[in-house]
Amino acid sequence: MGGGVIGLAGKTVLKARNITKQFASGITAVNKVSLQINRGECIGLVGESGSGKSTLARCLLILENIDQGEIWFNDKPLHLLKKEHMRIVRKDMQAVFQNPTASLNPKLKIIDSLMEPLDFQREVQPSFLTGIRNNRRKVAEYLLNMVNIPSNYLSYYPHELSGGQKQRVIIARAISIEPSLIILDEPTASLDVSIQAHILNLLKDLQEKLGLSYLFISHDLAAVNFMSQHIMVMKQGNIIDQCRREELFLNERHFYTKELLNIFDS
Ligand code: ADP
Ligand code: MG
Repeated sequence: MGGGVIGLAGKTVLKARNITKQFASGITAVNKVSLQINRGECIGLVGESGSGKSTLARCLLILENIDQGEIWFNDKPLHLLKKEHMRIVRKDMQAVFQNPTASLNPKLKIIDSLMEPLDFQREVQPSFLTGIRNNRRKVAEYLLNMVNIPSNYLSYYPHELSGGQKQRVIIARAISIEPSLIILDEPTASLDVSIQAHILNLLKDLQEKLGLSYLFISHDLAAVNFMSQHIMVMKQGNIIDQCRREELFLNERHFYTKELLNIFDS
């Protein structure tokens, strides 16, 4: 597994420069934020509620128009592309949001929600599906197996699954087309505390196995520290501190980062 990414390790997947987003209310939710994500890397973005994390995620996903800045995705300028080009580029960037129930159509069986991206993009040939790509049932079983859900769940409807199981299905769907980047916006925030760690472990295992690149967003510094090689701290729309994971506990950290660390300790 992951053969498709060997040789690409370290290559820049996403490079955003000076992203600024102001809402009509006058609030600058994202203020001149720059970031870079390399292949196989997890960048963690932490900050309190309202600090602009989701708005930044939505800007990178082109779900919001940006007021200023540049977004380069696999060396393509997303900020300049027209809509039809955008679709081609965007299939390579997937997202997992906080509320799994909102992300699954209640009227569709799990197999049909899970297979949506691969059904729609017949030309996509993920390396881990070599040999079975044309067998829809086998592909669906393989994907569910990757997230540790028994294959009989394929014929279930979303309401028959727990929150954690639904989020696993959404993770499987995000991975299914072997995207070069997955944006995870508080993927465990709506789940029971007892299962949050299971989902984080799953995400981390998949990242290592498949060489995936993540932008992992959370208000929880402990979760970000567990997941990420590089940590960015956001407050009131600004990145006020950033460091490699090993540098998180150094004295030179911003006082706000230290405040977040204190919460993490208690
Ligand atoms: P976070 O994800 O860190 O909790 P958000 O990005 O959701 O933060 O919000 C950042 C700020 O932008 C907040 O002050 C929020 O109220 C505001 N905001 C978010 N979305 C909108 C919107 N669609 N219209 C107006 N203001 C918004
Ligand atoms: Mg948010």
